[in-house]
Amino acid sequence: MSPKIVVLTGAGISAESGVPTFRDADGLWEGHRVEDVATPEAYDLQPITVHRFYDARRAALAAVEPNPAHRALARLEDALGDDLTLVTQNIDDLHERGGSRRVVHMHGELLAAWCRACSARVRWTGELADLPPCPACGVTELRPDVVWFGEVPYHMDRIAMALAEADLFVSIGTSGAVYPAAGFVQQAARYGARTLELNLEPSEGTMWFREARHGRAGDLVPAWVDEVLAQLG
Ligand SMILES: [Zn+2]
Repeated sequence: MSPKIVVLTGAGISAESGVPTFRDADGLWEGHRVEDVATPEAYDLQPITVHRFYDARRAALAAVEPNPAHRALARLEDALGDDLTLVTQNIDDLHERGGSRRVVHMHGELLAAWCRACSARVRWTGELADLPPCPACGVTELRPDVVWFGEVPYHMDRIAMALAEADLFVSIGTSGAVYPAAGFVQQAARYGARTLELNLEPSEGTMWFREARHGRAGDLVPAWVDEVLAQLG
């Protein structure tokens, strides 16, 4: 029987592909204060500014590629199928382009838009700043389908169920500072899962993990996946 594994990925895995993160040293996200572009209040005050910011992030996806860590997690999914739950805090599509097919985007996706008029969710690769009509209802109320600060992350029930059933919880490239994701390790451990951190440096939550390995995700993740696959035989 294969183990049930929950993997949580964060900004660190995308950073190795060149995706800038707002937790960089200056505390800014591509030159913007997070509260000016990533909150519902910012969107209500300055929707076009927020749209332009996400339009630029969406366009920038074309310049980045998945790295060996993303590809290794796709190999793990090939072997484990539904016994792997891959949860990401990232809004880019690098897991999908790395070959993963069942990604749980708890903070939404850059390549999706959400209509505030009819609640339709649609794949979106173009711009939103020119206020295009919703393909479903025709009203111009499309916003980026991303979870802003102060909003509730997506799929929390499904994630809680997977954590409760997990034999192993692995956190990859996360700061351990952003809740609720930072609490997943304790949730999983409470239900008896082993816990492993793979991160560039000890995260803020590193003390909660039974084991921690520190280095680049592009090195650590393929090596860990090889270990899991070897144990499967
Ligand atoms: Zn609509």
